[in-house]
Amino acid sequence: MFDGLFANLIPQELLAVLACPKCKGDLILDEKLSGLICRKCALLYEIRDGIPIMLIEEARPLEQTTTEEKKDE
Ligand SMILES: [Zn+2]
Repeated sequence: MFDGLFANLIPQELLAVLACPKCKGDLILDEKLSGLICRKCALLYEIRDGIPIMLIEEARPLEQTTTEEKKDE
């Protein structure tokens, strides 16, 4: 299902058990943004070194990331 780079970084078994820490909803893998997206909360949980950062305070709002991939504030 997930071919390419992220298939190695995030096994499907792991993705299946991951849930949004805020709403406990399903997460969507987004290769462009290098992270997991919760559509309900509009948050992006980044994947660093193959490890999803499942912290609400570390998550990035989707509004910022979808328009332009800016790293600085
Ligand atoms: Zn959520």
